[in-house]
Amino acid sequence: MIENWNLVLSALADRIGAQEVDKWIRPLRPTVMTATAIRLQAPNKFFIDCVSDNYLAALREGVMEVLGPRQLLFEVNDTLQGELFPLKSLARGSATQSRPTIGTLVQKYTFANFVVGANNQFAHATARAVAKQPGEQYNPLFIYGGAGLGKTHLVNAIGHQILDRNAGAQVAYLSADTFVNDLITAIRRDRTDQFKQRFRHVDVLILDDVQFLASRERTQEEFFHTFNALHERRRQIVLTSDTFPKDIAGLAERLRNRFEWGLIADIQPPDVETRIAILGKKAEYEGIALPGEVAAFLAAHIDSNVRELEGSLTRLGAYASLHRIPLTVDLAKQVLQDILKREVTISADDIQNAVCSQFSIRLADLRSKRRTRNVAVPRQIAMYLCRKLLQSSYPAIGAIFGGRDHSTVIHAVSVIQRRMHEDPGFQATVERVERAIAGD
Ligand code: ADP
Ligand code: MG
Repeated sequence: MIENWNLVLSALADRIGAQEVDKWIRPLRPTVMTATAIRLQAPNKFFIDCVSDNYLAALREGVMEVLGPRQLLFEVNDTLQGELFPLKSLARGSATQSRPTIGTLVQKYTFANFVVGANNQFAHATARAVAKQPGEQYNPLFIYGGAGLGKTHLVNAIGHQILDRNAGAQVAYLSADTFVNDLITAIRRDRTDQFKQRFRHVDVLILDDVQFLASRERTQEEFFHTFNALHERRRQIVLTSDTFPKDIAGLAERLRNRFEWGLIADIQPPDVETRIAILGKKAEYEGIALPGEVAAFLAAHIDSNVRELEGSLTRLGAYASLHRIPLTVDLAKQVLQDILKREVTISADDIQNAVCSQFSIRLADLRSKRRTRNVAVPRQIAMYLCRKLLQSSYPAIGAIFGGRDHSTVIHAVSVIQRRMHEDPGFQATVERVERAIAGD
């Protein structure tokens, strides 16, 4: 499906230009392709309207050229919002729009929309403290935790609250890979001075997913100087990562050291009560009438991460409203069967076997300590998938791959994440393996 969609994107680039494709078409996510129709998810209603008004004819032609005639169906999946809108201008109330600020805060990621549970209580309290007195108490604030557990939400909330208290504050919010890419662009255009200046004058710098700085020596060096300049002037720095600083592979010692200067807070997966509370809040926000027993059912069966929990609620809500039927536990079982099935049936063996057959290697080699490249990359993919699909701990994954150290597994996971992020072809490969594991 991804390959087909990529072909459609290329066909479209010839019609409307690569820039427009990047801006409006690439953010759409194909979820279903049949012989008659394609379902595309968009981050919000506005996005769908824009695409329909401006690019529908071109999109139809592109699809026609690659796949033949298909009906195009659009739906909103607002979990795409955060990932897909790293716009370079500040998209927050008009009062703040004219100021030169870096990055975009996600509107709905506020403290008011954040559910506090035992899993995130400490991180939440420290985020509140920082928002109240930026630069004074914990600097930097370093928040770490697994994917989809609310790090981005929490640090956006800090940015919102600082701006609420002081509309003139210069808040920069960006992901570390945007920082990497902007620096690369600046170097290419011989504009590193402007790049430096841009960051040195902010009051608050929020850098999301600093694990993406791994092995980026030049960027790390630049960030090191930015960090020092801000810290000296007591400007607040907020960082997030998927691991503890010392577990970020390929991070320079002096940066790691600074990341530990302030306060480190973790976010753990939410317990079942917190999951129910999150569903309740989300349903309220989306205007979905969610019966308690359905919330309890979802919370009991989807315990991996909050993003997935929310995604299943959105899907369920959309299905029920589209078909005008009430939201019941039976409907949830039916609509979410793929997610629920995957949960009960997948094992580490399934993942290892699927990877072996995909790459034509032997199971014994995958589990061995051999370092040849044709085994090493599939092994890293398998480790990544064990982490993603089974939420196994790093040491447990190390144990089933020839007794490797947990740091090796952490490194493998971050290498695969980064490559997927940078290389759509590689991402498609990993997703193909994932689908094979799920049995479709
Ligand atoms: P991360 O950055 O850790 O990968 P996000 O902050 O993107 O995770 O969270 C994923 C989704 O889950 C977001 O839509 C976020 O609003 C939601 N979410 C996570 N934790 C909470 C929470 N405690 N309360 C409300 N929503 C949450
Ligand atoms: Mg995040």
